[in-house]
Amino acid sequence: SLEDSVNKNITLEDIFISVKTSRHYQTSRLPVILKTWFQLAKEQTWFFTDVDNPLHQNQTNGHMINTHCPSYHQPKHLCCKTSMEYDHFLDSGKKWFCHFDDDNYVNIPRLVAVLQRYDHRLDWYLGRQSVNRPVYVNYQKKKILYFRFGTGGAGYCISRSLALKMSPIASGGRFMSVCEGIRMPDDVAIGFIIEQLLKVNITEVPEFHSHLEQMKLLPLNKLRDQISFGFFWKKNYKDTINAVNVPGFNARYDPTRFLSLHCFLFPYFQFCKLIRR
Ligand code: UDP
Ligand code: MN
Repeated sequence: SLEDSVNKNITLEDIFISVKTSRHYQTSRLPVILKTWFQLAKEQTWFFTDVDNPLHQNQTNGHMINTHCPSYHQPKHLCCKTSMEYDHFLDSGKKWFCHFDDDNYVNIPRLVAVLQRYDHRLDWYLGRQSVNRPVYVNYQKKKILYFRFGTGGAGYCISRSLALKMSPIASGGRFMSVCEGIRMPDDVAIGFIIEQLLKVNITEVPEFHSHLEQMKLLPLNKLRDQISFGFFWKKNYKDTINAVNVPGFNARYDPTRFLSLHCFLFPYFQFCKLIRR
């Protein structure tokens, strides 16, 4: 059918991938991404940070964008970065906007394959809910509104058609006012705009994952099918490591398991030769 032929035309070239990061994770999170999945989507991936780092600017061929947003984990600050991610997507002219956090591993070929199932000329909000029920916000002190949202920590994708419909509400920095209006983080605000204001429902895509799930429960023979993975680790909390269970490098060298995961998926990478077998 026409539908099929159009969708198969979607390639990596059509996707704008944004990664939210910050000065706090320049040494702990960014290098792993740059070494692994970024190498498979160098032209399509952009990092939104809050610092100038010539080394990273060089390693990414100028794909680090200093948003000059404040650097902390406050809804306002995160919304500031997401607002820039969205505006850059609009300017890019690409067909899909996909956001990820810097503690995500993104399985690039799988992302492309899944997007080929959907038509970017229709309204699509693809993601994974953090909790399996709607959230609610107090809106303008008048009423309580319920809606669903895709958790930013698992990644979400928005078709160009839908992104354009969000534009009067969210473009040119207006997204930040929406965040402030509902006093919620950026991913909740995205859900609020799409589900509540535009009346478009999220489509649950179970291949998106965040560290809100137990990563070790993903079976080895299913890893290749997933779009994104999460990682969580807190200093001095040995038991709270949440990472993909995959053989490869030792846990001290590769605590996130993202290097090992990358070698499991793409064993031809040079650095994978260092795995002791
Ligand atoms: N982040 C940030 N500044 C901060 C903390 C976090 O920009 O001070 C970004 C971080 O780079 C990541 C996202 O916000 O992309 C989510 O942060 P994190 O994974 O630390 O926390 P979570 O929201 O998953 O608990
Ligand atoms: Mn996180």
